[in-house]
Amino acid sequence: MLAVKLTDYYRSLIDWDDPHDPLARMVSFAEEENRQLPEETDDPIGDHPHSHGPSRALIHRYPDRALLLVTSRCAAHCRYCFRKFRIEQGDADLGEAELTEAVAYVANHPEIRELILSGGDPLSLSNGRLLDLIGRFRRIPHLCSVRVHTRYPVYQPARCDTLEAVARQVDVFVVQVNHAREVTERFAQAMARLRPHALLYSQSVLLRGVNDSVEALSALSWSLARVGVTPYYLHYPDLAPGTAHFRPPLEQAMALVGALRGRLPGYLLPRLILDIPGGHGKIALDHAACQRIDDHTFLLRSPLSGRMIEYREVLEPDRRPAQNHAVDVADCQRR
Ligand code: SF4
Repeated sequence: MLAVKLTDYYRSLIDWDDPHDPLARMVSFAEEENRQLPEETDDPIGDHPHSHGPSRALIHRYPDRALLLVTSRCAAHCRYCFRKFRIEQGDADLGEAELTEAVAYVANHPEIRELILSGGDPLSLSNGRLLDLIGRFRRIPHLCSVRVHTRYPVYQPARCDTLEAVARQVDVFVVQVNHAREVTERFAQAMARLRPHALLYSQSVLLRGVNDSVEALSALSWSLARVGVTPYYLHYPDLAPGTAHFRPPLEQAMALVGALRGRLPGYLLPRLILDIPGGHGKIALDHAACQRIDDHTFLLRSPLSGRMIEYREVLEPDRRPAQNHAVDVADCQRR
């Protein structure tokens, strides 16, 4: 079970008298977490087949990018986390031997143009460790970009007060922000510290009871725009164990983003993304990319293989029937 962990700063943003406070919902334990559906798995987006190293820390799924899980530590724990399996295993940072192997792997794969640091939250590492780690990859001539995925500016924006030397070595920060109330004055100051050095994008997770309305998503995009962050991805929640209560129906998710189109300028419209279970890759979800075959089943084209994958949405048991969640249609036809 994922331990409850949050910072004093984030605690102060929550209205604890409101039983439906959206910020509290993201970090507070809920009974529904005890209910794991058969389709939910510790590897919801199929990282394992693309992973390298003893702790599977280097993930090379797309030819031009590699993702390195540098730690399992985070400033706070998000109840919907799709890597909660790793976080639950306790605090652990990438070991020296595995880092050396990861550097060698990237150096030996000239098609890799970008390294993405993720985790856990990479900003859990000290500045010294981050500078050392990034510096080793920076020496690889074919690597064009270092990207950092983080939620620290939301949970503990003061972490960015001392980040200037690291930020100079980073090309892109992708900050996970899910609600307009997370975009505080303190968050704005954190972004102001990073902005001179790197591109700033956000990624959000579409979460039932948190931001699953046109008003909430529109407010989020405008709040981010005010502090110089470009809305980038809106993730449909992955099939992590005990997270069904966070998943809205897929059709509703697409309708929400469709309605946002009429409310937001194009440059503030995040792309609705679904990571197809089984390691079939991410797709931008819209009615053109997603062919509905019955109330709860959709055909999606894998960006990696080009094959059609059957995706059956997995909602709470009392809301929708649950069956196979992602099936390669070509495999079915061969059987
Ligand atoms: S910060 Fe990221 S890795 Fe950490 S618990 Fe939240 S979603 Fe998971």
